[in-house]
Amino acid sequence: MGPTETEPRATATEPANRTICDPRARSDRMLIAFDFDGTLSDSEMTVLLGEEAGVAGEIDEITEQAMNDELSYAESLYARADLLDGLDEERVEAAFGRVALRPGTGDVLDALSAAGHHVAILTGGFETGVEQALESTRSSVDTIVANRLPIRNGALTGAAEGPLIEGTKDDALADLAAEVGVDMADTVAVGDGANDLPMLEVAGLAVGYEPKPAVEPHCDVVVSSMVRLRELFEDEGVL
Ligand SMILES: [Mg+2]
Repeated sequence: MGPTETEPRATATEPANRTICDPRARSDRMLIAFDFDGTLSDSEMTVLLGEEAGVAGEIDEITEQAMNDELSYAESLYARADLLDGLDEERVEAAFGRVALRPGTGDVLDALSAAGHHVAILTGGFETGVEQALESTRSSVDTIVANRLPIRNGALTGAAEGPLIEGTKDDALADLAAEVGVDMADTVAVGDGANDLPMLEVAGLAVGYEPKPAVEPHCDVVVSSMVRLRELFEDEGVL
């Protein structure tokens, strides 16, 4: 056989539909990262704590400024923690006990886990509140990255500490994706506030859950209920 032999050529019989947008092309195992306050929960933990401390109005004001990107997240969290200085432990527990998931959240988290995805919560809120809310619906996630309010002598110290005060959610998402072996293209971020912008920008799919006005333009898609979120996951081939 000489070099003149006809090369095999692509013909019309070759599959043509190879668009990367095809939901069926999505990886079997994805990383789904949720914000917590304002996303999985319709409450805001520092506001619940503020109610226990009698400073809910001030806390709410600072939170709104931060969520609309008028104040840096770190500045706002330190300012809110400072307002909570001296709140005693029982009241802190009472506030965390009032943290609740949105209706239908447990179903979405369970479906994602059952589909084999790595499910994470990346929140500027506090680990104890997240854990208690998950426990109350018997749900769980694979990873929680959250902050803490230290307690000394039975009361809050007025400080705040943790990976998501100065640290941002884009780095947290990238670190976690590397750790669990998922490409960034196979990540989904779901959030509502300005501190979610970094992860929404780098995720494969950016979902706004009733996003703040400053956040909405950065979302690929916006939802306003857990039912819609689940449908979106189905449409996108995640579920
Ligand atoms: Mg939020």
